[in-house]
Amino acid sequence: MAKKVPVGILGATGMVGQQYIRLLADHPWFEVAYVAASPQSAGKKYKDALKSGWIVRGEMPEGVKNLIVHDVAKVEEAAGKCAFFFSAFEMPDKDQIRAFEEAYAAAGFPIISNASAHRHTEDVPMLIAEINPHHLDVIPQQQKARGWKKGFIVVKPNCSIQSYMAPVDALQQKGYEIKKLIVTTMQAVSGAGYPGVSSWDVIDNMLPYMAGEEDKTQFEPYKIFGDVKGGKIVPRKDIEISATCTRAPWSDGHIAIVSMEFGKKKPSKEEIIKIWQEYKGEPQKLDLPYAPKHAITYKFEDDRPQPKRDRDNDKGMTVTVGRLRECQALDFKFVGLSHNTVRGAAGGGILNAELVYKKGLIG
Ligand code: NAP
Repeated sequence: MAKKVPVGILGATGMVGQQYIRLLADHPWFEVAYVAASPQSAGKKYKDALKSGWIVRGEMPEGVKNLIVHDVAKVEEAAGKCAFFFSAFEMPDKDQIRAFEEAYAAAGFPIISNASAHRHTEDVPMLIAEINPHHLDVIPQQQKARGWKKGFIVVKPNCSIQSYMAPVDALQQKGYEIKKLIVTTMQAVSGAGYPGVSSWDVIDNMLPYMAGEEDKTQFEPYKIFGDVKGGKIVPRKDIEISATCTRAPWSDGHIAIVSMEFGKKKPSKEEIIKIWQEYKGEPQKLDLPYAPKHAITYKFEDDRPQPKRDRDNDKGMTVTVGRLRECQALDFKFVGLSHNTVRGAAGGGILNAELVYKKGLIG
């Protein structure tokens, strides 16, 4: 078997970091060779560093148990140990996250990030592999502007927008202009990391406010649907988006309830479902290891999608959609669901890395 590419994880001890460890355990191309977290975890064996214990599904993979955890701040310790990094660490100060990710890129490491710090940076692609792979074209410019030779940064968007971005993209690609989206999200507790929201606040309850989340929901689609011009991504602001983001009391899987208004050309319900079922992006065309077979899965049952029943469809990587019907206020409405720590975080990051690797951007 060909030698696997050694990869590192910044924030390997957290909710998303553990999902990376779990999902990469049997990856055909990549293997975890380096783990890093806060100074409190640094110097410990991975199995002893988890404050929360192992909180994701299954057993901790043997291969990582005895890896020594490094301090994210000690960039120099990573030299020669891995080919690129997944970034999944959290700090209260976004400037510090930005600075660390840049320090790793300057040291020659491509960074596939889950953090929000660089999502607004105009020459950093915010990638959903099926939707905007052409945004990777800005990487040479990103490297040139900063004097980076091999390193660069690619980020993932917010987890909740995954539940409707592919369905919207599929319709736009077929020539149906979308003018308005009214979105209400119901986001699982794992979206807040560990320990996250207190049980007192969320059991038998829902929280109607999540700081910063609605701004992300209203900005990020503009960048993802944006055009590449002069080595930068220029956001496309021609969809009006109104979002309400709420925290719901289940463990995994973000629901989005979406109403959409089309431009002059309006598809029928049957046409929309057909477009969603046939939707394919580069991950499917390239048959990438972590690509879902179907980027969108349509459920015809009236009571689907449901987080518990549908979040793991197609290894947690498909967007499950249902309840498409006419909307009394706009044109059509539907319910979308995606697994927030898989498609919306580690699985989506792995898919981005596979695409970047397949395109020859990682040395
Ligand atoms: P989390 O469970 O709170 O984990 C945070 C990680 O950051 C841990 O590994 C922690 O290490 C590390 N860390 C904390 N302080 C640090 C410091 N001062 N220096 C270096 N590392 C430090 O959070 P999470 O949910 O995994 O989220 C991680 C990132 O992914 C965040 O940027 C988040 O916004 C993003 N994200 C999360 C989701 C989701 O569904 N959860 C989805 C998309 C994106 P210690 O264990 O040593 O403290």
